Amino acid sequence: MEPSPLEAWRDTLQELGVLGLVREPRPAPEPAPAPFRRTEAPRPQPAPSAPAPTRYEPPTDAVGCPPPGAVAGAATLADLEQAIQGCLKCPLGPGRIRFVFGEGHPAARLMFIGEGPGRDEDLQGRPFVGKAGELLDRMIGALGLGRGDTYIANVVKCRPPDNRTPLPEEARACLGYLHRQIELIQPAVIVTLGATPLRELLGVAEGITRIRGQWRQLELGGRRIPVMPTFHPAYVLRQYTQDVRRAVWEDLQAAKAWIDKAEA
Ligand code: SF4
Repeated sequence: MEPSPLEAWRDTLQELGVLGLVREPRPAPEPAPAPFRRTEAPRPQPAPSAPAPTRYEPPTDAVGCPPPGAVAGAATLADLEQAIQGCLKCPLGPGRIRFVFGEGHPAARLMFIGEGPGRDEDLQGRPFVGKAGELLDRMIGALGLGRGDTYIANVVKCRPPDNRTPLPEEARACLGYLHRQIELIQPAVIVTLGATPLRELLGVAEGITRIRGQWRQLELGGRRIPVMPTFHPAYVLRQYTQDVRRAVWEDLQAAKAWIDKAEA
């Protein structure tokens, strides 16, 4: 029996290797889009804010906040120290281990003023006792003096955290104590160590590198006191170059020469 035309066409395809013809599955229909509905955009939430720093409230009693009369009325350095050693007038007070009043000859001709106590000073309650203090002692010795011939104090009497520079408000809170110290000692010359004492005592904002070695003057209690600005010993230790050491040595020699001349 003759194959039908359809069977003949199928056999031809099989001979050509086109086997298993299958219907391609239809692609699944795309899901219908969701009906449009207005939605509320999420409102931006305010970022959680850091808690507002609490303002330092100094105590109001005469120990934590010595009255100006007690400072001005102190007749000796010992009286002054007694009056202010419990001071908590600025935020540095509660963080200190020891109060660092200053030390030296009560009528020193040469007075050094630094920035503030560091870690060693805070532990011992004495100014300039760490590595910077050792260098200062050596420099004083090179002038033919002993540490006890001079007086050494700082702008602030309590250690700033992490040895940072005292903030202007901290320095302001403490400055009256330093002024009274200077009035009681009556030095012939003050040597300021670093930029901070120069800025807080004399309002000089220029960098210490530019201004060191240039005489300034402090008017206090009816006296004019020559001030010689020089580098802080800690800076000298960090920048231990011949130029820096020579600069400090020249400044100290100029201060000593002034005293010698004034007293000749
Ligand atoms: S740094 Fe000066 S003002 Fe501040 S708490 Fe100490 S002594 Fe008082």
